[in-house]
Amino acid sequence: MPELPEVESFKNYIEQTSLYKRIKDVTVSNAMLLSGTSKECLRGTLIGNMMMGSRRHGKFLFIRHKKDLNLLFHFGMTGHLEYFPKGEPINKNAALLILFKDDSSLAFVDRRRLGKVGLIKNVDDFIKERGYGPDALQIDEKEFTERLKSKRTNIKTALMDQKLLAGVGNEYSDEILFQSRLHPESRINKLNMRLLHRVFENMQGILKKAVAENADRRKLSNYFFLEHRKAGLTCPPKCGGFTALKTIGGRSSYFCPGCQELIK
Ligand SMILES: [Zn+2]
Repeated sequence: MPELPEVESFKNYIEQTSLYKRIKDVTVSNAMLLSGTSKECLRGTLIGNMMMGSRRHGKFLFIRHKKDLNLLFHFGMTGHLEYFPKGEPINKNAALLILFKDDSSLAFVDRRRLGKVGLIKNVDDFIKERGYGPDALQIDEKEFTERLKSKRTNIKTALMDQKLLAGVGNEYSDEILFQSRLHPESRINKLNMRLLHRVFENMQGILKKAVAENADRRKLSNYFFLEHRKAGLTCPPKCGGFTALKTIGGRSSYFCPGCQELIK
């Protein structure tokens, strides 16, 4: 599922393949994909226009077209982008296909159909109006601690709360807490500054490394739960116990009860 590092890799992908190309045609095969816009409006806006730049905030990607006009992508559970140079066969399952004047094309492919595409004017206004928190790679430790401390919930639910902090989802929150040796159900109001510092440092370290590796999971093989998401595995560090699965914050969470301390 695309989280901050995956969306950052989609941003790089668009910048490497699709900027400054005149758009010739736009096909929307799945109208459910559109949020706050229509096929006609999207086509009317994009055709003849071109992508000028991109910006990511949390799990959202914004592609700037003209001044104050952005194409918004949210990748849901399975959404991703595929670029096809001229002459290459196009993925016929694309929910959205943008054809450029040079006959190359960019597709939004989404098997589970939970992704969204929209048009927005101002990115900062969008983030503010929707109440999304600061990006997990932009936030400083002081604000991170203050925002978390305001919540009366467990640490896993808070890390995944996009209104508190944008970009961390189910899988990366498991990894952050595993590396922090902290049980996902630990209560935030019981965590001291030393533990919050550890979570912050691990969050930034893991996300930065994943971004540097272009979210390629094979290159993150030292990351236990990103690589081996399963219950009943032998925990690799000193502990030697077995990993567990439990629904926390409505999501399937993996952790090691042996070495992730539960603080309640
Ligand atoms: Zn363990």
